[in-house]
Amino acid sequence: MAVCYQLPVLALDRPVPKHVLSRRGAISFSSSSALFSPTPRHLSKRRGAISYDSADQTALFIRLLDVRGRSQPGPQPQRRAPRPPPQVDFRDLHSGRDAAGPGATRGLHRPLSLQRSRHVLQRSPAPEPRHILDRDYGGQATCVLQRVGCWDFDVFLLDRLTNGNSLVSLTLHLFVHYGLIRLFQLDVVKLRRFLVCVQEDYRSHNPYHNALHAADVTQAMHCFLREPQLAETLTSCDILLGLVAAATHDLDHPGVNQRFLVQTEHHLAALYQNTSVLENHHWKSAVGLLRESGLLAHRPASERLKMEERLGSLILATDISRQNDYLSQFRCHLQSGDLRMDNANHRHFILQMAMKCADICNPCRPWRLCKLWSSKVTEEFFHQGDTERKHNMEVSPMCDRQTNSMAKIQIDFISNVVEPLFSEWSRFSATPLSRVMMGHLSANKAGWRRSLLEEAEPAKLSASS
Ligand SMILES: [Zn+2]
Repeated sequence: MAVCYQLPVLALDRPVPKHVLSRRGAISFSSSSALFSPTPRHLSKRRGAISYDSADQTALFIRLLDVRGRSQPGPQPQRRAPRPPPQVDFRDLHSGRDAAGPGATRGLHRPLSLQRSRHVLQRSPAPEPRHILDRDYGGQATCVLQRVGCWDFDVFLLDRLTNGNSLVSLTLHLFVHYGLIRLFQLDVVKLRRFLVCVQEDYRSHNPYHNALHAADVTQAMHCFLREPQLAETLTSCDILLGLVAAATHDLDHPGVNQRFLVQTEHHLAALYQNTSVLENHHWKSAVGLLRESGLLAHRPASERLKMEERLGSLILATDISRQNDYLSQFRCHLQSGDLRMDNANHRHFILQMAMKCADICNPCRPWRLCKLWSSKVTEEFFHQGDTERKHNMEVSPMCDRQTNSMAKIQIDFISNVVEPLFSEWSRFSATPLSRVMMGHLSANKAGWRRSLLEEAEPAKLSASS
């Protein structure tokens, strides 16, 4: 993008440490990316122009350029009425749909917030974290985040308003909300860097298991943390771990299930001996990012290790194949009435159950959100099924588009997995939220039954004709 170097350089230019460039790239897109053709200058104007050659690992500067007000040399062109800016859907750019490949745009939507936060920190020696964070949200996103505790919260809308950064925005907002930055003396820049890395390590080309799902689960977790039995007893460490576990629980998900990894002898299956392969990988990836970011480096080593262990236990609880173990333990506790929330082990167990509920709560959301999530997860399942068929493998249950439909998959999932879990949860936490969730669950199941009937009608008609 040689054109950028001819443009005036604003006073925002400043050195970027080598480790930032080499590790993740302060701005992680390639200047030779196919995304910027055929009209690179056109997009440069829209993006405020950023010149950075990712091939040059020794680059020391990122130049922030502004071409919008640049005067043209030579005779002044005749004044024309201003044309509205072209409608560019930046989500399309981020999705990688028109890029060279899935990895080509990975990280393209990384916010420049690390640099921005540093800038703010330099200008204001003792800022309140809230001020630093809120500056980046944008007015509408801030408004939407005010409703983060509502069960009908629209995470899709937040994602659009934050230009695909819903996981970072939402989790930061919750860290501020719970006072975790102050309580754990967290460095805001490290926290932001950690969350940006978490968001990026989700694969944006997965239809379902991407950062938006993680944001949705984190929001659900926040709703559960507010439930009276939890809110009155959980420690700040419980809350911190609950939020981090929710945000990282599917980190680097490959978009296929464990069965696929085992059958294809994927190295992760070998590494984790075919047991909770994905969940172990999510946990280890989360620990890797935690350590790399240095977010908890100021805490005692024993505390860090304990937190990493508990984080693993929360993430591993999302393994659906182990749901019956958790459910029978939960039922035992509920029948004997022996759950004591002043007991750290019991609190942790309830956090595990909350994590499980948050992970599979899509069918308990309002119908519009439930349908959106269902279409995404079905797309991911069917994509796996197509791959299996292409390679002459046995097609996994729920992944065969020839024998399944979205409605059928959802009815089975609700009946076998979601209802048993949420019935027990609502016994434990008999609150208005639980009643709302069970109401949606029942209405949505009825909705899927209607869809199934509608699907069957044309088939019957064509069979009889
Ligand atoms: Zn998940």
